[in-house]
Amino acid sequence: MATATETKNLRTPIVCVMGHVDHGKTSLLDKIRGTAVVNKEAGAITQHIGATEVPLSTIRSLCGNLMSGTVVIPGLLFIDTPGHHAFTTLRSRGGALADLAVLVVDITEGFQPQTIEAIKILKQFKTPFVVAANKIDRIQGWTPTKNGPFILSYNKQPDYVKTAIETRTYELVGKLSDLGFSSDRYDRVRDFTRNVGIVPISAKTGEGIPDLLMVLIGLAQRFLEENLRMTVTGPGVGTVLEVKEERGLGFTIDTILYDGVIKVGDTVVIGGKDKPIVTKIRALLKPAPNREIRVEERFDRVPKLTAAAGVKILAPGLENAVAGSPLRVAKEDSVEAIIKDVEGELEKARIVTDETGIMVKADTLGSLEAIINELRDSGIKVAMAEVGDIARKDVVNAETLPGSLNRVILGFNVQTLVDAKDYLQTSDIKTFNNNIIYKLIEDYEKWQKEQKDLAE
Ligand code: GDP
Repeated sequence: MATATETKNLRTPIVCVMGHVDHGKTSLLDKIRGTAVVNKEAGAITQHIGATEVPLSTIRSLCGNLMSGTVVIPGLLFIDTPGHHAFTTLRSRGGALADLAVLVVDITEGFQPQTIEAIKILKQFKTPFVVAANKIDRIQGWTPTKNGPFILSYNKQPDYVKTAIETRTYELVGKLSDLGFSSDRYDRVRDFTRNVGIVPISAKTGEGIPDLLMVLIGLAQRFLEENLRMTVTGPGVGTVLEVKEERGLGFTIDTILYDGVIKVGDTVVIGGKDKPIVTKIRALLKPAPNREIRVEERFDRVPKLTAAAGVKILAPGLENAVAGSPLRVAKEDSVEAIIKDVEGELEKARIVTDETGIMVKADTLGSLEAIINELRDSGIKVAMAEVGDIARKDVVNAETLPGSLNRVILGFNVQTLVDAKDYLQTSDIKTFNNNIIYKLIEDYEKWQKEQKDLAE
């Protein structure tokens, strides 16, 4: 058990929401924000740039007597952008930025391709997760709780409703088992480090959300106590979410700080287009509670911030910053070493490719890594892999790939540039573009089969 001093140094775990399109990721995030707002007694939630913080006090009052035992985690920080694309883009040193994930599955539809894709990515990054079996209000006969507190009213439902949920939960358990996970309905799980908890919820009515938060807290406690300790007092470390030009302010970066402290006036090193950017923080901005029309009033300035938190940073020279790249606070005597570190981090993320195979382009290092893993699982080899749009030089390089079925470029979440389009007219290189991994692979496999059939 952690002592009082150790407890002080535990930071807030960062949670990503993933799942198939339309299964309710956005609704869940909205409801988590809304539930705390509606339930005034539950206390405040804090809106960050790119994230929402639900403090432990809020979770406690939402959960009532569901929660027991000593809790040392200060709360949960939800990344506001849902989807596994956000998950793979946001990297921290050595892995994904998220400490935990919620996998949203529409209980009426079960696992869909992007659900499986998300699980494979979570497995690859060894990220602990909880399944939110969403849309229980759509189960025929479900009677919603009228005025909250939104704790799951499972036991008050008629037997046929309970049976319906049970049957669907077992279907999810079966699918998770196929993918190598042991799971059960959350109230039957004794040890969340061994079993994936499945929490029936409705992002529409809010039911089950306290239960979900409670399971996340439990998971965070057991898994993360070790990792989160001692991380909130050192120089700030974070990841760039987005590079944005703000009217009246100029170029800014939205970042998630996952480690340490950041202050106005600090020198920071950020991943840049050609080389790391070294700059001094002019302002740290958080969303103002009452958003005004004037740009300067949309944000509150804060002198300093402690992890984990989302913040907009204003500094000179941010126009070349790269989303998904690291951000590090440097002391005067450590700038050179940190520049090397940042270069090293970007280099370390370089993708190891096969001797022969196809070419893959993707928008970020994280997504490139995820897609290569998926391709390898499908028995497809990758000889060339790079971040960026499909340019003429890529087509020229692809023409050197041996084997007719390898003369292909798969583009994930990228464009084919005009010069490449022109060149492709006279080239035998085939390109495929999509922003859903499994569709991209499906298209390639279909083409591959057609080519084989033609050859016979
Ligand atoms: P996302 O693509 O995963 O972010 O899904 P959305 O949150 O956009 O939800 C897709 C659709 O499902 C929307 O029309 C939502 O209103 C609906 N939806 C989401 N959660 C629930 C739920 O718990 N119950 C019901 N009945 N509809 C839901």
